[in-house]
Formats: sequence, structure tokens, C-alpha cells
Amino acid sequence: MFTKILIANRGEIACRIIKTARKLGILTVAVYSDADANSLHVNMADEAIYLGPSPSRESYLLGDKVIAAAVKTGAQAIHPGYGFLSENADFCRKCEQENIIFIGPPVSAIEAMGSKSAAKNIMEAANVPLVPGYHGDDQSEAVIKKAADDMGYPVLLKATAGGGGKGMRQVWNEADFSEGFAAAKREAKSSFGDDTMLVEKYLTQPRHVEIQVFCDNHDNAVYLFERDCSVQRRHQKVIEEAPAFGMSEALRQQMGESAIKSAKAIGYQGAGTVEFLLDSDGSFYFMEMNTRLQVEHPVTELITGQDLVEWQLRVAANEKLPKSQEQLRIHGHAFEARIYAEDTNNDFLPATGKLSFLQPPTESRHVRVDTGVRQGDEVSVFYDPMIAKLIVWDENRDKALQRLAKALSEYRISGVTTNIDFLYNLATCPAFINENIDTGFIETHHDQIFHSDAQ
Ligand code: ADP
Repeated sequence: MFTKILIANRGEIACRIIKTARKLGILTVAVYSDADANSLHVNMADEAIYLGPSPSRESYLLGDKVIAAAVKTGAQAIHPGYGFLSENADFCRKCEQENIIFIGPPVSAIEAMGSKSAAKNIMEAANVPLVPGYHGDDQSEAVIKKAADDMGYPVLLKATAGGGGKGMRQVWNEADFSEGFAAAKREAKSSFGDDTMLVEKYLTQPRHVEIQVFCDNHDNAVYLFERDCSVQRRHQKVIEEAPAFGMSEALRQQMGESAIKSAKAIGYQGAGTVEFLLDSDGSFYFMEMNTRLQVEHPVTELITGQDLVEWQLRVAANEKLPKSQEQLRIHGHAFEARIYAEDTNNDFLPATGKLSFLQPPTESRHVRVDTGVRQGDEVSVFYDPMIAKLIVWDENRDKALQRLAKALSEYRISGVTTNIDFLYNLATCPAFINENIDTGFIETHHDQIFHSDAQ
């Protein structure tokens, strides 16, 4: 096992990784920008190296500086967390060149999944089911439109380089295709510098169900079951749960085995997530594979009793997976709500300011709070305005959901506008309790979720 690792991230995920490293007796090196000089992750780590000014481009995204910090401090491995450099193939390659272990998959796997269309080609060859569509090299409007016409509307245009819900556009009928196509390409170009598009059948009421997989360097692969992340706003996750409600054992196994097939098709190692759309008739389709630890990994940890960061460290250190498929079991039900500094009454505009009062619910075996801030800290304009992840567990879905509502009602934050009331309204919405959920949930239940006198 390593004796020292560097964590190339900030906020809650940096703190989360430090906790596990400490448990395993591994020393930690934090990195930080100007805005984070006094932040919790710097405080928790054994050492800290300054990277540069506050904007990520001048600090957390500077791969060479991060690697130099690892070399200087004698860290043997780098954990990239999520976001920033976590899915950057060049960074991963440079780590290899400097003999520093990148705690994640091999460069080839990051590259293979970096483009949505290349990923689809690989999955098609591996017999993993895909949403019907076109993801070819011929990018002429006529060819892509013909594919859309042939499969029938509505369709979804996606930027092959896309991510974070950006560069996607629904087209509802043939007459609107040209306009939608031009707009999607413009957005893709400005967001990703690449306007290559693919087109898919737009499923109108799917669920987003993703499978957590893990592979080691000794040919072992397991799935740690599924997470339902259907509750989304602008294609971004808001509340996640595990396991997915209403899953039969047969479907769980089928999706799990498909996910492992996907991972094996690209020689995967470490933690990965295979995202599927699940249609109401039980058919499921590969969407993409995320080659990193995900924000919502704690719900999987709570239902399996495993520490996924520990698994990542062990696999990166060439150990075997801690458990076999037969040894893994689902126990109870977990939810995660993402607590954000944002104004839900004003188009979810990010909020900034000083957390003048901060009192999370008391942690217990039922309630976990993953955060990177303390009372008095500043939520700045420079980074994602997530304040914390609230994760709850209980023996079944109903009880876990009651825990979530209670914990949300106990969360006290002053100084910064948050989405806590919005999350509470979601958690107590009858349709949510009754499992009447698909990816359009927030839009369809707008009036119930946005009523103001919930608490
Ligand atoms: P990104 O990489 O930007 O996160 P994804 O391909 O993962 O994009 O899709 C994000 C979300 O968009 C999904 O969780 C789902 O809600 C919606 N979505 C994606 N593809 C389709 C589709 N073909 N039909 C309906 N909804 C879709």
C-alpha cells in the first residue's frame, strides 16, 4: 500500500478521500488555490502545496504543477477525485511518465470513453444495448437528419464531446430539425470546442439507472449494484438513491452483467459507472461510462457497507478486489441530496457569500454529511457551489425517505441562499414517495415542488 498520496481536488471530495487515506495510515498532500488557502481540505491534510490563483484554470487544472507537487512531496500516487483532471487522458499519461500512479483507469480507457460516439462504437461491438440512433463520422446535416427521420421523432441531438448535461437538444418534429441542429452545434462548439454530433431516439419517460463497477489488475470485475438518478434538473442529478425502486433481481443481474461487459470491453481498472436509460417496458440502453469516482458514490457505500475510496486505493496499489460478486449484498436503502448554494426561485442561479451560520443534522449510522466547508467559510464564485452531500440510510425506502426529509428540515444554513427547501419539497412530494419517477419528474411536478410554504 502507498505511504503518501496527493489529492488533486478540493471541497467535499478532497476531505472524503483524506478520511479514508487516514484510516489506512496513508499520509496525504493537499493542493490549493488562493481562494482555498484556509479551507478544510488543506487543514485536514498532512501537507499542502499552493498551486496558483483562484480560477481553476490557473490552479486545479494545471496538471504539470500538480504532478510537480507530487514529485516534490514524494507522493507515490494521485487521486483526482471527480471533475478537474479526473478524466483528462493527458494528465493520466503524464503521471505515468513521472512514475506516479494515477488512481483511476488506464489512459486507454479514459480515451475510449472520452467521446460519446467512440464509446458507442465499442459498446455496439461488445453487444451492449444502445439507444437507437446514429453516431457516425459523416456529419452532414442531410445524413444526420435522415437518421432522425427514419427512427421517428422526438430525437435528441448530443455533442459527442458533451458532458454535464450540456450540448443536448431535443427535436420534436421534422420541421424543427434544421434549427435545432444548428443551435446544438453552436452550443457544442462554444462549450467543448468540438461540434461533432450524434442523434438518438428521445425516450420520453425513461429512468436514469447506473451501475457501479469495479475491476482490479488481476482480471476480477464486480458490480456494486445500481443507483437511480432520475431526479434531474437540466439533465443534472439532484437526488440519487440506491437501490433503484422496483428492480427485479433478474433485471439487476442483467444490467450488472451488461455493465461488466462494458468495462471489460475497454480493459477497465478501478471504479467506473455505466449509465443506462431504463424504459418503462424494462428495456435498458447504454448511455455512457464515467471513468471516475462519482459524486453519488456514498449511496452505494451505505447499501453495501463498502468504502469505495478504499477499494480504489487497493486496486491502484495492485491488490485484488476486497470482495467477490457472491460476497456483495444490498442492505437497506439510501438517498443522497446535493445541498447547493443557489437560488431556486431565480432560475437556480449560483449563490455566493459567507456561511455565517452552519449546522448540519447530527451524524449517526443513519445520517452522513460529506462536506468541505465549515461555519465562517466563503462560498466563492470560482467553483461548483455545492455545500455538502446529505446521505441517509434506513432499512427500507419509506423509512430512508422519512430520514431524508427530517435531516433536511434540521439543516441550518445562514448567510447564503440554498436549495434546502426545494430538496425538502422534493423529498416529501407524494409522487416521489410513491415511486412515480422518471427523468421528467421535476418538470411534471413543478407546482408541488416549488410551492413556498412547505416547512
Ligand atoms: P452528460 O454526459 O451531459 O451527462 P448523458 O448522455 O449522460 O449526458 O445524459 C444526461 C441525461 O440526459 C440522462 O440522465 C437523461 O436524463 C437524459 N438523456 C440522455 N439521453 C437521452 C435519451 N436518448 N432520451 C431521453 N433522455 C435522455
